[in-house]
Amino acid sequence: MGRYTGPVCRLCRREGVKLFLKGDRCYTDRCALNKRNFAPGQHGQSRKKVTEYGMQLREKQKVRRFYGLSESQMSKYFMMADQMKGVTGDNMFKILESRLDNVVYRMGFAASRAEARQLVTHGHFLLNGNKATIPSLMTTVGDVIEVKEKSRGSEKFKSLVENHSGNTTPWINIDLEKLRGTIVAESTREDIDLPVEEHLIVELYSK
Ligand code: SF4
Repeated sequence: MGRYTGPVCRLCRREGVKLFLKGDRCYTDRCALNKRNFAPGQHGQSRKKVTEYGMQLREKQKVRRFYGLSESQMSKYFMMADQMKGVTGDNMFKILESRLDNVVYRMGFAASRAEARQLVTHGHFLLNGNKATIPSLMTTVGDVIEVKEKSRGSEKFKSLVENHSGNTTPWINIDLEKLRGTIVAESTREDIDLPVEEHLIVELYSK
């Protein structure tokens, strides 16, 4: 299945949690979840008994939508996580957090992951000095992500410097003057602002 292109607030309403898909609006009273905190559609407000499979599916969809992934990408990342040493759920989040589009978003250089993905695709970023236009590129500790020189003078990045809220992601060190971020540690599960029971995702994919 391809990437969803409809109204994104419906996705948060479906999952019943903020997925932060709309940038600044998500932090205001205009967030759709403040007004309509129930699933979209005709039967959105009716109470249904949720099966075990239904709960597992919802947790997986939550994560998939949070990171803006296709179904095949999500299952590929899960397989990778499953083959790594350690706790599969934690590994899965480490992989997801290391995607270049997520790192750009975590650096505060884009208002949402969707915007980060677009900025990367449009060639505004360098990874370790090389042009990087693939949002799914995996980063690692020590990597340097920066806005390329030609893009730094654009209105977008000028206003970003003015409104940036500083170093908010503990595993990335931001240098605003150089519009650069250095990954200084691996992300941890505690850094992820999404209420999710990843053991249900592990159960779903382990069937
Ligand atoms: Fe829409 Fe953002 Fe609120 Fe989700 S968190 S419902 S994307 S405004």
